[in-house]
Amino acid sequence: NEKPLAQLIYKPQAQQFYKQREKFAHKGVYGHTLVVGGSKGKMGAVSFTSKAALRVGAGLVTAYVPKCGNDILQISVPEVMTVTDSSEFHISKVILDFKPTTIVAGMGMGQHTESCKALKDLFTEILETYFVIDADAINCIANDRTLLKVLPKQSILTPHEGELKRLLGEWKNDFDKLEKAKEFSKKFEVVIVLKGAHTIVVNGDNLYINNTGNPGMATAGSGDVLSGMIAGLLSQGYDPLLAAVFGVYLHGSAGNLVSQEKGFEALIASDIIEHIGSAFL
Ligand code: AMP
Ligand code: MG
Repeated sequence: NEKPLAQLIYKPQAQQFYKQREKFAHKGVYGHTLVVGGSKGKMGAVSFTSKAALRVGAGLVTAYVPKCGNDILQISVPEVMTVTDSSEFHISKVILDFKPTTIVAGMGMGQHTESCKALKDLFTEILETYFVIDADAINCIANDRTLLKVLPKQSILTPHEGELKRLLGEWKNDFDKLEKAKEFSKKFEVVIVLKGAHTIVVNGDNLYINNTGNPGMATAGSGDVLSGMIAGLLSQGYDPLLAAVFGVYLHGSAGNLVSQEKGFEALIASDIIEHIGSAFL
């Protein structure tokens, strides 16, 4: 009766994760996702994350962006509300007049000292909110270890290999990498999504290996779509581990649906978003 080292995620398991949409629901039932990110020239990342959160079913999505991002967001994803920072080109301090269900931070944010400080303040000021920590938010933590002291428990971190190296340091081999990730997950009580060809979700000693996805997904913005999907699921009441495992599965499935029409080379991040709906079926 030994516990398996890792669980593979296939369609039958993923189908059990799905929570049926309620007939008498209203948008308030499905949570309010806040997307914090963007900097001059990288606003697309916030668009992808915001739209992906909506496509998995989040009730409301607000993007918190530097001033220069306001019109870009409002035009590229009109369903998304915006709140703008006092700075023109980067995030300097996050000021909110509502409490989000879930915050997903870091996409296209850059690593300005003020942006990293804004993230730290967000960790300490906003309590009882789920966090998805991606991209430059991970880099901020890697650069300033004092952020680890205030990292909210049950956060989901979504590093690709480069970001993971910055966070955990070099590893000797894949086993060592997983051991380091497990240690980190246990020490800080967070879920880590190790993105790659087979993404592995690490929750303490438990590992979940994803089987969907394809090399066409090695493309700009692909990860921003994933972080939005996970955040959108969290907003709807999926618990962090489930949101991570199911989000990763759906993201890969959506990518596979795209590749059936377009092949690998032509696949771009917006295509993944457009296939999220069919990935649920
Ligand atoms: P990012 O580097 O942050 O844009 O994230 C890339 C996303 O694409 C992650 O979700 C990866 O799992 C996925 N991805 C990248 N390369 C591959 C690959 N060769 N096969 C399957 N998925 C991939
Ligand atoms: Mg990324």
